[in-house]
Amino acid sequence: MLSPKIQEALNQQINAEAYSAYLYLSMSAYFETESLKGMAHWMRVQADEERGHAMKLYDFVNARDGRVLLTALPAPKTQWSGPLEVFEDAYQHEVKVTGLINDLMNLAASEKDHSAHDFLEWFANEQVQEEADAKLIVDQLKLVGGQGLGLFMIDQELGRRPASAGAAAPAAT
Ligand code: MG
Repeated sequence: MLSPKIQEALNQQINAEAYSAYLYLSMSAYFETESLKGMAHWMRVQADEERGHAMKLYDFVNARDGRVLLTALPAPKTQWSGPLEVFEDAYQHEVKVTGLINDLMNLAASEKDHSAHDFLEWFANEQVQEEADAKLIVDQLKLVGGQGLGLFMIDQELGRRPASAGAAAPAAT
């Protein structure tokens, strides 16, 4: 059983992860129009991963006999000045999500919900990688000045990202 506070907070996090998926899909659509197919692919995989995060929370709420309540998603940004701005936005977004996970873990601790706290540790660790991945791409884009052959090579590299493992199957809780 989940406390009402934890249930509400987990539902908010499901919304936040679903919004992340929506935002990254919007970034993917932008890259499609810019003919940056590798970046479009990378963002599409990222969107799948975020949906996987939402579903992991969804499964946890259900496993704890809670009630998942889906709510409206804000419209994502649709236009950027170039790849650097997109990945800077992605990095800032991940920093924000890390803060949300930390808040959720603080709540789980104050509500003495140890299983929720343990469960959320996976997300806290995942955020380390999410921030590092986005930051590395920001730095690489800065290195090449966000254009020309350097941009082409980064696009090629990002196009090799493997599909998200967690996208299709429900995550174990
Ligand atoms: Mg996420």
